[in-house]
Amino acid sequence: MKTANPSQLGISELLPTPRGVALALMTACRQEDITISEISKLIQTDPALSGRLIKKANMTGLSTRTITSVPDAIARVGLNAVKQLAMGFSLIDQYQIGTCNQFDYQQFWSHSLLMAIASQELVKSTRLCSPDELFACGLMARIGCLALATIYPEKYSELLEKQTPDLTLIDLEKQFLQTNHNELTAAILNNYGFPQIFVESIYYHETPEESCFSEGSRPYQIVHLLYMAKLIADFGLSPESEQNKYTTELMLLGGKMSLDTESLGLFIDDVIKDWQTWGELLKIPAAELPPFHKIINNQIARPESTVDKFSLRILIVEDEPSNLVLVEELLSRILGHTVFTACNGKEALSLAVEVLPHIVITDWLMPVMDGLKLTQSLRATDWGQNLYIIMMTSLDDEEEVIEAFDAGVDDYVTKPINIREFRARLRAAWHYRKLQESWERDHEQLKRFTAELAVTNRKLEHIALTDMLTELPNRRAGTEALSKAWNDTGRSNQQMFVILIDIDHFKKINDTYGHAIGDQVLKKIAAAFRAIGRKNDVFFRIGGEEFMAIHLNDDTDAKPAVLFAERLRQHIAALQINIDSFHMKISISMGIAIKEKNMKTEDQLLSAADKALYAAKKTGRNKTCLFIDNKIVDCNSN
Ligand code: GH3
Ligand code: MG
Ligand code: MG
Ligand code: MG
Repeated sequence: MKTANPSQLGISELLPTPRGVALALMTACRQEDITISEISKLIQTDPALSGRLIKKANMTGLSTRTITSVPDAIARVGLNAVKQLAMGFSLIDQYQIGTCNQFDYQQFWSHSLLMAIASQELVKSTRLCSPDELFACGLMARIGCLALATIYPEKYSELLEKQTPDLTLIDLEKQFLQTNHNELTAAILNNYGFPQIFVESIYYHETPEESCFSEGSRPYQIVHLLYMAKLIADFGLSPESEQNKYTTELMLLGGKMSLDTESLGLFIDDVIKDWQTWGELLKIPAAELPPFHKIINNQIARPESTVDKFSLRILIVEDEPSNLVLVEELLSRILGHTVFTACNGKEALSLAVEVLPHIVITDWLMPVMDGLKLTQSLRATDWGQNLYIIMMTSLDDEEEVIEAFDAGVDDYVTKPINIREFRARLRAAWHYRKLQESWERDHEQLKRFTAELAVTNRKLEHIALTDMLTELPNRRAGTEALSKAWNDTGRSNQQMFVILIDIDHFKKINDTYGHAIGDQVLKKIAAAFRAIGRKNDVFFRIGGEEFMAIHLNDDTDAKPAVLFAERLRQHIAALQINIDSFHMKISISMGIAIKEKNMKTEDQLLSAADKALYAAKKTGRNKTCLFIDNKIVDCNSN
């Protein structure tokens, strides 16, 4: 969010400021120790404000008890809302007229008031915030426009005249006035002490998609709610010929709040009624509007006046040329959809595969392949599950209709086609399509999330099984590998050997060069192990300077395992280790054990290897011992 800096713009003194009681109230509310009774007294000095607040309290309260006094009104509405309302009402009185010729002050307030009421009513079904506070937000949401008209009356008149759909007011303001009405609104509301969450939500209410609020969060919901309230206000103030610009989107937003068209209509009608009551009270014009459902029906009855925003790929299947032309005309020319046509089911099927329509509208009786067969064939495919299929039929027999639904159609219309009814059916199809898109989007997100989770889990697993110093698999990985090899070799003819490795006199390395160098040595040894080991020999760091290798052989002969161990030992003994300016040599001792018939668990195998290792240490180090047939064999003797 970017707020304007009025003092930098040199306009601080010119900003709209509430006067009289509202101003006193604003100042008073900044004192922490102010009491309700002091505020009441202050408000009571202004009879108009008192009356309006009492009215407000009575209109928004859920309780049936009638409020008759200012203290009761404050108690019901809340101090914050009282303060904000007082400012709003005061500004309305002060700015009924002004010097900016192109700025319609009355209409500005009329719009603000409608937005205020719509915001208040919309928020009632949620627990987002107090309806009265949101009323005040709606009322002040475009105060920046009033401010610009007040501060730059001539320039702003020019800009208002200049604006076109491509050259928006915001762009013009930015270009010529170095700020815009949203930035200025934010600065003013900050100055009035509006809570930050409202200031931010109002700032983005014209373009909620730019807000970056996380989906479902409180500001996210408030900004979308204000957006819808603004749409209702735009709708209420637009001339009759332009109302249809708003109805579709309103219905869509209503749908998101689980309001079907009828309940949305009733809701909007109530809001409009409140608007008129408030208009009288505040001396602001509020137009009479026909009921919402009438407005929509008029639009449906005059389809040629509207090209809907949404465009779908629709496949029409009809063997009767006159009806085909009629439907095609209606869908493509009047409603602006992309239309494909076929004259029987078979043709439709191959075309559908090619163009992947959103909706198929098919006749029932047709040569070659009829509508029922077509529906069944489409539903038999994977992608055909999501199609919306409407059947056109001259039959309106219940049995027939049931048969059509059984075959998989979503809806049907009777011929001859009634344009109004047909359009209503398409709306349902369109809503279905939208729902499906949002479901697909959710599904995609879920898939991506699952994939990310899997990657994270794999990383965590890797970390859990890896020794960070040497990057060899750790003790836990060793234990798992040991028991896996134990089980695998139980089922196959392979022979299993365990080799335990312990570095000789490692304490001395630490004592001589320090622990850090000791660590480097461990890393070098581990790297040497990795380099010399074959693919099947995995080394594990199972202790400080202790390692384990698991060696698998195709026969029971111990020789290859011993040779492997010896090669390793000699390689390490010959290794010249250089770290910084230190040069050293090191040796390892090893104990090997072979999995023997009498061993019951891998632990016994491990302890046999340990015994062999102990023997190697005991008998001189830098050597290999083998535990076999319950005996220890010194692999370096003779
Ligand atoms: P030997 O095995 O030949 O009997 O003698 P040793 O000196 O190696 O004795 P032992 O195996 O009992 O002691 C291992 C020493 O390794 C003890 C400890 O100081 C050192 N050590 C263990 N882990 C680490 C480590 O992560 N870094 C370093 N620098 N030293 C370690
Ligand atoms: Mg036919
Ligand atoms: Mg040790
Ligand atoms: Mg040691």
